[in-house]
Amino acid sequence: MSDLKILQLHKHYGAVHAVRGIDLEVASGEFTVLVGPSGCGKSTLLRCIAGLEEADGGRIEIGGRDVTWEKPRDRDIAMVFQSYALYPYMSVYENIAFGLRARKTASADIERRVKQAASMLGIGALLERRPRELSGGQRQRVAIGRAIVRDARLFLFDEPLSNLDTQLRDDMRAEIKRLHQELKRTMIYVTHDQIEAMTLADRIVLLRDGRIEQEGPPLELFDRPASVFVAAFLGSPKMNFIKAVAERGKAVVEGGDSLALPKNSTAEGPVILGLRPQHIYRAVEGQAGMNVKVDLVQVTGTRVIVTFRLGSTSVIADLEAGEPLNPGDDLTLGIDASRLLVFDPKTELRIG
Ligand code: ADP
Repeated sequence: MSDLKILQLHKHYGAVHAVRGIDLEVASGEFTVLVGPSGCGKSTLLRCIAGLEEADGGRIEIGGRDVTWEKPRDRDIAMVFQSYALYPYMSVYENIAFGLRARKTASADIERRVKQAASMLGIGALLERRPRELSGGQRQRVAIGRAIVRDARLFLFDEPLSNLDTQLRDDMRAEIKRLHQELKRTMIYVTHDQIEAMTLADRIVLLRDGRIEQEGPPLELFDRPASVFVAAFLGSPKMNFIKAVAERGKAVVEGGDSLALPKNSTAEGPVILGLRPQHIYRAVEGQAGMNVKVDLVQVTGTRVIVTFRLGSTSVIADLEAGEPLNPGDDLTLGIDASRLLVFDPKTELRIG
């Protein structure tokens, strides 16, 4: 059964059409991530689901009930904000208990639930402190605790990790994932960070200019992106896009070399090739490959990111560290042709 159903949702801010006819269904227990570049409408969509923004058109159902015109507190949701939104003069305990008290929950029940949530989040020893006596990561845990003590049908997260430093963000990301596995609740999570989207989501909804560009399991979007936009958004280093002309199973790259197309490709004429940096490898002795000259080398430890030219295009390869490389070195590289993607240069949609 679906916990959330959105039909033809629209939202304007004056002349800005922020959400442009979104249809979306989220199954019970699913972790859905709304992702996309800044300004694509993901926060607006989440705020419409929460009831913090009023939609101009369309319908929102939570747990099978039409809530389009209901107030946030009547929607059966709990939300975690980027800014934490804690009450500064209340203790951690009172902050977590706040929503339960407002709903007139019995005190014994409140105590049990607050302690259970605090222990799950590793903040059981901090219950008497005030928010200002906590680190950023601890504050965010309190904000998450306040949401999970509620028995809400939908848990909404609005970029909850963006105020944390990188290390802490990685830890908290793992913790949110674990929390979802333990609680098995329906969660909708907004982020602009493709790594958060890839690692957390059961399903990614990638937005562009107020519309859904593609939705599906992370690996489906990663391996079978519908468009150049999706392919470019997911993955790091970014996918290479190479202009070429397809001709009988080969693609002649602008400015020179030719690459083998995937076996089933029927593309002919101008194309854009999509090649992930991870699908380029060092050819071993005697193995066929393309000879390139190294432009730039970035060592990350286990990997080495090499920039080189293919015809007139600058291409990035993400290689195993191996033999040290220097700018100007000659290198023979192979490409996994079966992983090459083919896009129509006019529509930028994938055709192979
Ligand atoms: P995202 O969360 O993807 O960064 P938003 O949903 O915040 O995007 O914004 C979508 C569009 O709506 C943007 O063009 C943004 O400038 C505009 N917008 C968002 N909130 C407001 C507001 N309160 N008033 C006017 N325009 C807004």
